[in-house]
Amino acid sequence: MIPGSFAYHRPTSVSEAVGLLTDLGDDARAIAGGHSLIPMMKLRLATPGHLVDLGGIAELKGIRTENGDVVIGAMTTQHELIGSDVLSAKVPILREASLLIADPQVRYLGTLGGNVANGDPGNDMPAVMLCLGAGYDVVGPTWARRIAAREFYQGAYFTALEPGEIVSAIRIPVPAAGHGYAYEKLKRKIGDYATAAAAVVLAMNGETVARCSIGLTNVAETPLWAEEAANIITGSTLDGETVKKAVAAAEAITSPASDGRGPAQYRTKMAGVMLARALARAKSRATSRPQS
Ligand SMILES: Cc1cc2nc3c(=O)[nH]c(=O)nc-3n(C[C@H](O)[C@H](O)[C@H](O)COP(=O)(O)OP(=O)(O)OC[C@H]3O[C@@H](n4cnc5c(N)ncnc54)[C@H](O)[C@@H]3O)c2cc1C
Repeated sequence: MIPGSFAYHRPTSVSEAVGLLTDLGDDARAIAGGHSLIPMMKLRLATPGHLVDLGGIAELKGIRTENGDVVIGAMTTQHELIGSDVLSAKVPILREASLLIADPQVRYLGTLGGNVANGDPGNDMPAVMLCLGAGYDVVGPTWARRIAAREFYQGAYFTALEPGEIVSAIRIPVPAAGHGYAYEKLKRKIGDYATAAAAVVLAMNGETVARCSIGLTNVAETPLWAEEAANIITGSTLDGETVKKAVAAAEAITSPASDGRGPAQYRTKMAGVMLARALARAKSRATSRPQS
């Protein structure tokens, strides 16, 4: 339970951090809130010789709106997401999902950037980001680029980030006013990772679903964007038969591991149950409006 020794660096700008990560190479890791990395170091599953702390970089903090997007600095904590009036008004699913992560102690330090960059299929924010169609602003040694969340996750702890790159911000297109949303998470106890979870964002036109997007957490090596299930829901009244078909389509793309949270088949079924609940709750929250 004691990590290996490491050198500690505290840059004050993104360019300095990226320079350090590039110069120090494979032996260096960025550290944000430390609430995934430090447990890994204590278990000696990670043994970086250098930690580059992103905590002293002011430009990585803050929440702002820009051209119809909400832009959240990577070092914004989960606690700050919960307290943000902008997010509560524009993208309330982020508050709902944040409140289901761990406990207040973890959320005071754990960051959105760390949660989405970690690549752990158990993290809650990645599926929410797939559901919202978010993009990640990434800075490398001599470049900056944007990676769609839906293209970011390649395997457990394996993402599209190249050596030396960091996520600087998370960019979320603001869903239409009056949209419905829900994040439903099954966990064994408070503070646990998901046995399965589902994120839904939808818009209604009268009694019909005009748009729908679905993300699933911890039921595969990566978070899942359940595109086919969402297509089945779009255009429907969310009647029982359609929901059943969508649940079956979502379950079909899962491939969870059997582990302490239950056998694979159970976790797949729970993903379906979470999805059905999230669809119903999202509909109940949507303000019906004719689409322009
Ligand atoms: C008891 C406990 C329960 C938890 N339960 C949950 C849960 O239910 N749901 C959940 O989602 N999470 C959970 N977590 C994890 C928590 O949310 C972490 O805070 C989060 O996963 C990582 O954020 P961090 O800021 O702590 O990142 P760190 O631990 O500092 O970093 C994690 C990884 O991301 C990399 N990284 C960090 N920031 C960046 C960046 N800006 N750019 C590129 N790479 C970066 C690091 O190099 C490292 O590899 C739990 C943690 C604990 C200790």
